Amino acid sequence: MIKVLKFGGTSVGSASNMRRVAEIVKQESAKITVLSAMSGTTDALVRIVKLAAEGQTAQIEEQLTALTEKYSTCIGELLTPERAAEATALMNEKFDTIRGEAAAFRPYTSERRIIAQGELLTSAIFASYMAQTGAKVQLLHAPSFMCCDGDGKVDTRKLGELLGELTADPGTQFVTQGFICTNCRGEIDNLGRGGSDYSAALMGAAIGADEVQIWTDIDGMHNNDPRFVENTYPIRKMSFDEAAELAYFGAKILHPATIQPCKDRGIAVLLKNTMDPQAPGTRISNSEDDSKAFHAVAAKDGITVIRIYSTRMLMAYGFLRKVFEIFEQHKTPIDMITTSEVAVSLTIDNDAHLDAIVAELNELGKIEIETDNTIVCVVGHMEHTESGLGARVLESLKATPIKMISYGASHRSLAMLIATPYKKQALQSLNDHLFRSC
Ligand code: ADP
Ligand code: ASP
Ligand code: MG
Repeated sequence: MIKVLKFGGTSVGSASNMRRVAEIVKQESAKITVLSAMSGTTDALVRIVKLAAEGQTAQIEEQLTALTEKYSTCIGELLTPERAAEATALMNEKFDTIRGEAAAFRPYTSERRIIAQGELLTSAIFASYMAQTGAKVQLLHAPSFMCCDGDGKVDTRKLGELLGELTADPGTQFVTQGFICTNCRGEIDNLGRGGSDYSAALMGAAIGADEVQIWTDIDGMHNNDPRFVENTYPIRKMSFDEAAELAYFGAKILHPATIQPCKDRGIAVLLKNTMDPQAPGTRISNSEDDSKAFHAVAAKDGITVIRIYSTRMLMAYGFLRKVFEIFEQHKTPIDMITTSEVAVSLTIDNDAHLDAIVAELNELGKIEIETDNTIVCVVGHMEHTESGLGARVLESLKATPIKMISYGASHRSLAMLIATPYKKQALQSLNDHLFRSC
């Protein structure tokens, strides 16, 4: 059985956790192990980027001192003196790269190079430890095979060819970085925050893996967001579509793009807990559990709603096409949509081109914008023929003002837009009413 295992920041966040990870990698006979940077690293590197853009050199040194301490402790606890010296030299080299990029800061290029150093350093330390334990291991440089096109999409054909060749030796275990890639200009880049899950899925699909395992700090996908809600519980079995929906609508445990490459190839995705490897976790596959109307809830913040009022819509056709074309031109995906005879409401999670979009929408009607919203999405098996399901969800949220509702596009989800300050109460209330009684 060919397995690709991915471990997140907490899983590789200390020497003792790295030892656990090495055990799991051995137990599972992982072919490729994909790693994030040690926990807190990417956040620190993002802070460094911000400071570099402002020319705040002294504060950059403070951040680097903290990172040096974190990595030196890990290296000292994990590696033999000879290996530790090698890893320390690599760490100093990486941090000098960061200093160099910060001193001659180029907005996009330096940012991406600085942020990549976390995964590069963490994976090198871990690979050295694996070799120290006697494993036959090889460290692969992910940007040499994760290559993106002009739209920022990984070239999966090239990935298949390159990774297939690189990992041809069946007796070797491979360790590589999640998250990082090469962009269409040949520079080091990344797949966006939390993107290591997606890296693992793409690599799994590329080598025809049987299973992609995402190891993190919780026992699988819970029925609600445990950061905001009390009394959540793990879901043991879930379909690709449900998992994709939950990840897309904010279940942080999984990067939203992770499911598609695995679904396309029928590769099962397992969500497992590094801190409790015996716990069953969640298995995501083609099989569907249709026994419950409500399976889980997720929430996605940072949503902007755009309302278009126009009497030109009345009894007309072609109006929505004009609206959609504007979003398409500005490469801005629409999340939710509701319509009435004289108005359309749309939501987007990326307002980078909002001004340009609104300028064009103004030609079509009166426009209203509201920011700071959250989409709350209930996922389950809500058959169109069944009565009372919508009523149960809305009854649970009677204390929350609801701005938009999307129901019936598929039997799988019911999504609602609320103002973000109501998120916690809405999630808890849904948990108390829809799940505790199940
Ligand atoms: P990693 O660093 O391993 O990638 P993440 O922090 O990205 O880990 O994802 C794991 C976290 O996702 C959990 O600690 C949990 O707080 C959060 N989370 C949000 N929603 C869910 C959910 N529905 N089920 C499980 N975890 C969730
Ligand atoms: N280290 C990156 C981040 O923190 C990628 C990842 O963890 O998936 O976003
Ligand atoms: Mg993550």
